[in-house]
Amino acid sequence: MTIYYSIVIFIFGIIMGSFYNVLATRLPIGKSIIKPGSHCDACNHKLKWYENIPLISYIIQKGKCKNCGKQIPFDVFLSELATGVLFLFSYLYFGISYNFFIMLILSSLCVIIFVSDFKYMIILDSPLIIAGILVIILKTVYYGYKAIIPTLISGIITFLVMLLVGFIGKKMYKRDALGGGDIKLSFILGMILGVQVAMVSLIFSTFLALPYALATIALKKDSEVPFGPFIVSSLFIVFLYYDKFYNIVKLFYLF
Ligand SMILES: [Zn+2]
Repeated sequence: MTIYYSIVIFIFGIIMGSFYNVLATRLPIGKSIIKPGSHCDACNHKLKWYENIPLISYIIQKGKCKNCGKQIPFDVFLSELATGVLFLFSYLYFGISYNFFIMLILSSLCVIIFVSDFKYMIILDSPLIIAGILVIILKTVYYGYKAIIPTLISGIITFLVMLLVGFIGKKMYKRDALGGGDIKLSFILGMILGVQVAMVSLIFSTFLALPYALATIALKKDSEVPFGPFIVSSLFIVFLYYDKFYNIVKLFYLF
């Protein structure tokens, strides 16, 4: 049965990953996600169903458009594979449970934010809103209505802390240190992790971002570093090892 579920969840993952890539590459530049249908960006060739099978079409066509031979962006393949693998991993690690469904939401946010923030420096509102609603539904299903208010309060406090950090950063560096998307994302962070662990997660995300930021400065590329991918990766890792990170919170109580 586990094998059967694993296959279904992996296939579901790669299909969702394909959709997430469309979402993350079209919405930031104001394109519709429905029209036009899947096509080659180079020659506008409309994809037949067999040219549009997640992972498989890319492999068979060796990553090239069947019509014009131009390279299909690798992030399409990577989004599909990553979502499939993360969904499968979530199932194998947690089984069908509250944690599993939260992991599906986090995996989805990871893929969408990695693509849109690295490509366009944008974190879309719509996936965050949908994620927020799904978290509240899950909390209610698994923990009852009483869980809604504390969940929202945790989200709001974390959001306000990030807003303050962004404000201080702006005063210090005379430019936006944090994007609006990063601050909205912290709302989800607080909802899922609770305020205390969310703070640990935010600190952890700066450590994750540090090597990339230093490399960017060293290579003297444009100095803006997308922070969203690191916030959401940190959220993913902290949720996975929640107990270990909660121990860090407990350390603070010793002082
Ligand atoms: Zn083409």
